[in-house]
Amino acid sequence: AVFVPNSAIGDELSVRILKVKKTYAFGKIEEIITPSPARIEPDCPYFSKCGGCVWRHISYDEECKIKQQRVEDAVTRIGGISTEFKPVIRSGQISRYRNKAQFPFGTDKNGEPVCGFYAGRTHDIIANTDCALGVDVNKTILELILKFMKEYQIPAYDEKTGRGLIRHALIRYGFITKEIMVCLVINGHRIPHSAELVRLLSKLDGMTSISFSPNTKQTNVIMGDSYEVLWGQGYITDFIGGIQYQISPLSFYQVNPAQTEKLYGLALEYADLHGDETVWDLYCGIGTISLFLAKQAKMVYGVEIVPQAIADARENARRNGIENAEFYVGRAEDVLPEYYEGWKRGSQGEICQTGKAHPDVIVVDPPRKGCDETLLETMVEMQPERIVYVSCDSATLARDLKYLCGNGYELKRVRAVDQFPMGVHVETVVLLSHSCGMVNN
Ligand code: SAH
Repeated sequence: AVFVPNSAIGDELSVRILKVKKTYAFGKIEEIITPSPARIEPDCPYFSKCGGCVWRHISYDEECKIKQQRVEDAVTRIGGISTEFKPVIRSGQISRYRNKAQFPFGTDKNGEPVCGFYAGRTHDIIANTDCALGVDVNKTILELILKFMKEYQIPAYDEKTGRGLIRHALIRYGFITKEIMVCLVINGHRIPHSAELVRLLSKLDGMTSISFSPNTKQTNVIMGDSYEVLWGQGYITDFIGGIQYQISPLSFYQVNPAQTEKLYGLALEYADLHGDETVWDLYCGIGTISLFLAKQAKMVYGVEIVPQAIADARENARRNGIENAEFYVGRAEDVLPEYYEGWKRGSQGEICQTGKAHPDVIVVDPPRKGCDETLLETMVEMQPERIVYVSCDSATLARDLKYLCGNGYELKRVRAVDQFPMGVHVETVVLLSHSCGMVNN
């Protein structure tokens, strides 16, 4: 196999081989001899250089076909499972759909600050304040930040030397509420002349939160561990499916709100709740899925590693008057086994007095690396009737499905939801049922 960026299935190409590995190679297009029928003219001038979009040169139909195939291949080949695949749920909007963007800052050849996106596989910045995936207001915000940096000679961070101040700008936008958050990630603990930055940004309609997050480590991790509010409040709010969520800078929140509603709707459908169920929502972030499920369950327990996200989750439950959801900070692979061990000892552990050993449903929505095996082991031991697996990486999903299907679960339904048009990743929702049917608690 030869990996060739910006190629399309059906192309006839002349390719220069750049790197040869044992079983595959990397190449670069020298000439398109016969273009694939799936090709279209990219509608962004930065596409060929920028590492942000990968499918802007092919039709959306073709992109969905590729994503569908990716999920099918992973589940069948890595997971060793044969099943029926429902067609991918397509995104209505394929540009300007993102409610969040993180723009890196750097310095151009003339010593001027720039921001944009990284070029593919490097950290060279392609200067562009108007990314086609993001909302229009990003451009205004980024240009005001650049103006401020130029005026007060505030240097951008330089990854190579570790010097300079401004590393990234995180911008979030509430699609329903129109609230805006700007959080600057800085290599330091204060922004000189920040009152002027606040003056410029706070004039924008919808500006709700201006903050900074110190990150003085030489690392690829974008955000620091904390943030300080410069103006307004430390969060914005938005709605998904009638539930209001508070979102702070360090909390995870799905980036494509229209598709998120479909994604959570599918998770809810697969969970098949009737009001009596006990549900665990592992990797719950700000409690998004938990609160979606709580309306139709008896009790939902959410677990999440980021403390600020759990603070948001508790506040979100309160805001929406939801009383049957409890949230715990910690690693899912620690919290769930700890709870279950406590229950087995008869104490029910400290974390949850009201729970039962065998939840009806466990929902997991892990980051790309998937679930830890300790967690999968505990889940299997706890024997929930149903497991709903929401995944953003088909390879780790397939690996975890193989484990679960080898340990008493049966894959019932699987469906991809396109959360990231033009992007390489695919979100998938899977329903697994315990093969022995009902389990009594
Ligand atoms: N379900 C949520 C969040 C999904 S993203 C939503 O749809 O919004 C995955 C979440 O897992 C992130 O919030 C991340 O902080 C959290 N996380 C990462 N590793 C974890 C772990 N080991 N245990 C618990 N949560 C973890």
